[in-house]
Amino acid sequence: MKKFSIAVLPGDGIGPEIVGEAAKVLKTAGEKFGAEFVLNEALVGGASIDANGVPLTDKVLDLALKSDAVLLGAVGGPRWEGLDYSIRPERALLALRKELGLFANLRPARIYRELIDASTLKPEVIDGVDLMVVRELTGGLYFGTPKGVETLPDGTERGVNTMVYTTPEIERIAKVGFEVARKRRKRLLSVDKANVLETTELWRKVVIKVGKDYQDVELSHMYVDNCAMQLVRNPKQFDVIVTENTFGDILSDEASMLTGSIGMLPSASIGSTKNRAMYEPIHGSAPDIAGKGIANPIATILSVAMMLKYSFEMEEASNLIENAVESVLSKGFRTADISKPGMKTSSCAEMGAAVLAELK
Ligand code: NAD
Repeated sequence: MKKFSIAVLPGDGIGPEIVGEAAKVLKTAGEKFGAEFVLNEALVGGASIDANGVPLTDKVLDLALKSDAVLLGAVGGPRWEGLDYSIRPERALLALRKELGLFANLRPARIYRELIDASTLKPEVIDGVDLMVVRELTGGLYFGTPKGVETLPDGTERGVNTMVYTTPEIERIAKVGFEVARKRRKRLLSVDKANVLETTELWRKVVIKVGKDYQDVELSHMYVDNCAMQLVRNPKQFDVIVTENTFGDILSDEASMLTGSIGMLPSASIGSTKNRAMYEPIHGSAPDIAGKGIANPIATILSVAMMLKYSFEMEEASNLIENAVESVLSKGFRTADISKPGMKTSSCAEMGAAVLAELK
């Protein structure tokens, strides 16, 4: 039997509630498909500040580095907002991303027919949308140097940020894009601004070169401004989008809001070695509903499905979890965030149990 160790970091707010449900789904999927998942739970974020004075201890970082994958809930909350930025809960996330070398962020946006009303767009525009944004996470405009604000001799100020990419950085993110497309509908769109920005001209050239090794994947290109427009005009045209850090930040938020339901959206951050990946819902710790047992665990459960697909090559198990979620929704199970007046509302635990029952 295959054996994998998972660092489970529930974090703050609703984190422990949603991760608890997702962990059961992971265990059950393992049992069904002949894999043993050893779950090692540890404190992160505000919970770690309360216990240890820092958002991420060396011990927990070490656990994450030694594990085959990390499952994270969410960190942060009003309780820690007065703290200095250097020891805020969110620093734990940045440190984990950096130390694990997570350079690719995968954010799918899929519309479930049962939740089509949750979107602000017309049903006919979004029905059937199933896309994935692959965002470069450690380079580009957010990290390039020189950066900063300087005062000029005449007393005015000058702000600078620089978009920088090297060929190896583009190659590795392009490869992730092609590999992800291979596991989906085999269409990759590379988004750049090659008509204006030289850095992205290089981006396009390198992506085309990498694409020669992926003849089974259809590669196309689009300028970022057009892509932003097309995402709301006709989002069904997209399968996988690979793009620069800042562009990806904006486009992935835009894409996720097509679905209108933050409690449904998973994510993965992937590094250069096979066991370096972190899976987490895109939402935060939702302090407004923490402890009430009403959070939606689906984003975290779907993050587990991504883990099975992208870290452990367990596509069948991954698909089964996705199908279980779809089936539970079609049977009318709804947590408060996706419910409508007149519908029975399930708790976090009831939703988790329903997915688990479907899976079994
Ligand atoms: P949030 O995502 O926590 O919540 C926004 C709204 O969505 C809230 O009304 C919340 O109740 C609702 N919501 C979120 N997830 C839900 C779920 N699973 N089920 C039902 N409803 C859900 O964003 P926020 O309120 O801006 O941030 C709260 C805290 O979380 C802050 O401290 C912030 O820094 C932190 N945060 C952490 C992460 C992370 O850990 N990755 C991401 C974003 C925000």
